[in-house]
Amino acid sequence: MLRIFNTLNNKKEKFTPIKSNIVNMYVCGITPYDFCHLGHGRTFIFFDIVVRFLRKSGYQVNYIRNITNIDDKIIQKSKEYNLPVDIITNNFIKEMRKDFSLLNMLIPTQEPLVTDHMESIFKMIQSLLATNYAYHSKNGDIFFSVNKDSNYGKLSNQVLKKLKKTKISINKNSKKHVEDFVLWKKSKQNEPYWISPWGKGRPGWHIECSAINDFYFGNTIDIHGGGIDLLFPHHENENAQSTCYNQSSMYSKYWMHSGMVFLKQQKMSKSGKNCVYLRDILKKNNPESIRLFFLSTHYKKPIYYDKNSSLRVSFFSLSKLYVALQQQNIFCFTNDKFKQIKIYGLSYKKKFFHAMNDDFNTPKALSILFELSKKIQMYKKKKSYCYSNYLSYILKKLGNVLGILFQNTSDFFSTNSVIKNEKYKRFIKTLIKKRNYFRILKKWKKADFIKEKLLKLNIRVEDSEKKTTWKYINTFNNDSI
Ligand SMILES: [Zn+2]
Repeated sequence: MLRIFNTLNNKKEKFTPIKSNIVNMYVCGITPYDFCHLGHGRTFIFFDIVVRFLRKSGYQVNYIRNITNIDDKIIQKSKEYNLPVDIITNNFIKEMRKDFSLLNMLIPTQEPLVTDHMESIFKMIQSLLATNYAYHSKNGDIFFSVNKDSNYGKLSNQVLKKLKKTKISINKNSKKHVEDFVLWKKSKQNEPYWISPWGKGRPGWHIECSAINDFYFGNTIDIHGGGIDLLFPHHENENAQSTCYNQSSMYSKYWMHSGMVFLKQQKMSKSGKNCVYLRDILKKNNPESIRLFFLSTHYKKPIYYDKNSSLRVSFFSLSKLYVALQQQNIFCFTNDKFKQIKIYGLSYKKKFFHAMNDDFNTPKALSILFELSKKIQMYKKKKSYCYSNYLSYILKKLGNVLGILFQNTSDFFSTNSVIKNEKYKRFIKTLIKKRNYFRILKKWKKADFIKEKLLKLNIRVEDSEKKTTWKYINTFNNDSI
């Protein structure tokens, strides 16, 4: 039984979709005015895993991830580069697809552009105006009136208290309340516009997601997701518009939010110039190690990226899983013992699903994969290859649920061999230097500790009279690569 932490009620809840086994899921997508960064990577890899796991659990998942292809930042970029808006957006959409594909993200069921849904946006704003949830301001914009919605603030609970303390705006040319938000912006000179029932203009940010959801899914969706930075005001405002428009108490049954990525203890942001682009790290790193890095922390928690160690550590972990995946070419006939190992494999499967069913606990699920890989290596050492082969098969299947272990092992090792990687070579050489230093000082315990550490990374150290050499050990064949 799947349990999901629902931001709406601030607790873990049993997951039951509205319509038997169909899951309608919407995740707020990117604004294409720049390349995608690590934060995007984390959010969209996580929701990719949600889709994979739900499908593996038997649900039919309709996954929508929109693209905000009209926005202030896009207009600003278009002015900066003196290029039309659609040239800017088409370029960054193309680049996003390249990055996401390298990261093995599934293509969403629908990837709607805001500009293709203007009619739905008009329909929703007109209805909100007719029912007095929205109003025209004197400057020609249309605003949503938060005071008209008695549930406003419910989704982003903590913020509600602050909202009560906010002062009423006295700017009579624009909105009535400081938290009122724009649904439609009157056109300014030299900006793209659409002809609406209220004249030339363009939509505000929040209305697009509500309108797209209404177009594809109708009143209520099962899961609405996004990064935690979208909870307020974006998701609060989406929720307000949609519930008022539908005269319903619920817009999304479950709200899921993934945590932030921090660099050097700071939140990553483009405005703060504290940003790592996916394409830059994809040039130097195996995409699966990026996925593994995100999976190693629970999606709700913040994650800290260290450019010197994070991906190096996850690459080593990934290598260990691929070493365990290497199979012996052997015919295995069915016997009682083999039946036993099938039951054993099933127990790992159960533990893995149990972890994932507990609000997508990927660190726990990963720890089960590593436990399984150790068991596989143990059987290989005993030359019980029927067992190790079968458990390798299970390991691959479970890894695939997380979007990893899709490569065949020979491809993985030929393109990612540890000894071909300069960074890892330097890392290993530093450890060996340290060890030699302790040996000179006759601090044998410390020297042995480093030797053990290297062995855990599949590095075997050999000392001769003149120098120390090292080898990467392929633990399956017990050969050096
Ligand atoms: Zn949205």
